[in-house]
Amino acid sequence: MECIFCKIIKNEIPSQLIYEDDYTMAFLDIAPVLPGHVLVVPKKHVATLGAMDDVILCHTMNTVQKIAEAMKEALGARGYNITINNGEAAGQLIDHFHLHVIPRHKKEELDLWAQGKYETGEAESIAKKIKAKL
Ligand code: 5GP
Ligand code: ZN
Repeated sequence: MECIFCKIIKNEIPSQLIYEDDYTMAFLDIAPVLPGHVLVVPKKHVATLGAMDDVILCHTMNTVQKIAEAMKEALGARGYNITINNGEAAGQLIDHFHLHVIPRHKKEELDLWAQGKYETGEAESIAKKIKAKL
C-alpha cells in the first residue's frame, strides 16, 4: 500500500494545503495537537531523518522556518514547537519523514515531556558514547 503522504503530495487524497515548492509541501495535520498544527514534508519519499540528503533536508528546514513564522503572525501565536517523531519507538506513525509545526499561545496549553536526572557519571558516559559515533 502506498504512503499516505505520497498520496497527498500527488493530490490523490485531499489536504488543507498551506505551501508547496519543488522540494517540499506543508499541509494541516488532520488531527491537530492544537489548531493550526502543520506538517512539513519532503516531496521525495524518505522514511527517516537519517536517510535525508543534505539538499532536501536544507529545503525542508527552510520551509519549516517559513511556515512557522507565517503561522505565528497569522494566528497571533507567541511561539511554536517543532517536533520530529523519528522511528516507531518515538511515535512515528507515517513512514514518510515529516516535521510537526505547532503554534503556541501559552505554556500551559500543552505538556510536552517530563524531565529526569542523571546518576553520577551517567551523563559523561552517555556523552562519550554519542561522540564516539560522530
Ligand atoms: P507521526 O506520529 O508519524 O509523527 O505523525 C503523523 C501525523 O500525520 C499525525 O499527527 C496524524 O494526525 C497525521 N495524519 C495521518 N493521516 C493523515 C491524513 O490523511 N491527512 C493529514 N493531513 N494528516 C494525517
Ligand atoms: Zn511517502
